[in-house]
Amino acid sequence: MGKHLIFGGVDVIGLAERFGTPLYVTDEQRLRENFRRFRDAFSSVASEIYYAVKANWNLAVLRILAQEGAGADVFSGGELYLARLAGIPASKILFNGNSKSDEELELAALSGVKVSVDSFDELYALSEVARSLGKTVEIAMRVNPDISPETHPKIATGLKESKFGIPYEEVLDAYKEAKKLEATGSVRVKGIHCHIGSQILDVSIFRETTEKMIALVEALSERGIELEFVDLGGGLGIPYKKDEPAPTPEDLAAQILPAFKSAKLRRLPKLILEPGRYIVGNTTILVARVNAVKKAARRFVAIDAGFNLLIRPVLYDAYHEVVVANKMDEPPAETYTVVGPICESGDIIAKDRTLPEVKRGDIIAIFNAGAYGFAMSSQYNGRPRCAEILVNAGKAEVIRRKESFDELLRNQVLPARLL
Ligand SMILES: *Cc1c(COP(=O)(O)O)cnc(C)c1O
Repeated sequence: MGKHLIFGGVDVIGLAERFGTPLYVTDEQRLRENFRRFRDAFSSVASEIYYAVKANWNLAVLRILAQEGAGADVFSGGELYLARLAGIPASKILFNGNSKSDEELELAALSGVKVSVDSFDELYALSEVARSLGKTVEIAMRVNPDISPETHPKIATGLKESKFGIPYEEVLDAYKEAKKLEATGSVRVKGIHCHIGSQILDVSIFRETTEKMIALVEALSERGIELEFVDLGGGLGIPYKKDEPAPTPEDLAAQILPAFKSAKLRRLPKLILEPGRYIVGNTTILVARVNAVKKAARRFVAIDAGFNLLIRPVLYDAYHEVVVANKMDEPPAETYTVVGPICESGDIIAKDRTLPEVKRGDIIAIFNAGAYGFAMSSQYNGRPRCAEILVNAGKAEVIRRKESFDELLRNQVLPARLL
């Protein structure tokens, strides 16, 4: 029998036998270490880390991060609900989003979180909602800084043509409007916010971003508007390929902090960062079983997890390292393309990889699946979602049961006339 992959101190093949496949497995220790390393990189200034909940919103993950002192960046009423349930205080939550409904604005006002305002339209709507509820909402403007990071176009969010934020040239006007509304007691101007994109490997772009944001803070200060926080968003990339050079939180801090600290202000605002991927990306593997090996145009390895469980390769052409978890000591033998069980030819997890000889029943582990993995899963093709396991100090616990066929029917209603 081949050597087994050990993850978080636990034998992955043992997990596959005990819980079945497919299976998401998250390492608690690594999650805590990632958070602490990121936080510590910015500890030379007053700073807070607002974890981007969308990357992985499992309640156990959120609870662990809450214990570590994380705040949260939420993008919907549902994420706000989850973050509060995990114990993250409202005072450390920023409600983001470019299309917030009245219900979501109400929820934000009632729960006392800060709101990142994405447009003039939203500013007026929020003020209206807050006034009718007799609440004062703390706000920041989401700035479109007109910055082009080198990343996949689908995850660049600070481009001039992106849907997010208020155009850079209009930001001062937006604050002027917000200040007028402040007089009504409905909103209070507190900060400024941007987020330029995701999976950014060349962090030098963050220096320019910081400079542009600080220039706005200084211009506002000159107009008598003093901000209490500057939120520069998330986006730090992680290495998906083995031995791929990737920036660290310290590298990111080295780009941001000099520009931040040299702001010409009487008092430095608090610095907020919103990492998602860096915090959870490498904490998790997706474990799947080989159902068939087939030599056709390519040598295909068909596993029981596809884009229903991990859509990143299909959506972003993302690369994920894969290994044969029960043959860790066997030499590479063949070039394989690892595909999922979904009824679409695009359902490819990993293309042209050299792996040891693969047989039906082998276990494949897909690395770095913790960010935008389970979080983006679906029941497409009538496939109930899989379980999630947390490993810590050699022990494994279920943090999400696998779904049954019943869950495919959940909330479906068959009209009586069709019975
Ligand atoms: C997605 C998102 C993040 C997190 O991005 P990562 O690349 O995962 O670090 C942070 N802030 C906002 C506003 C986002 O939309």
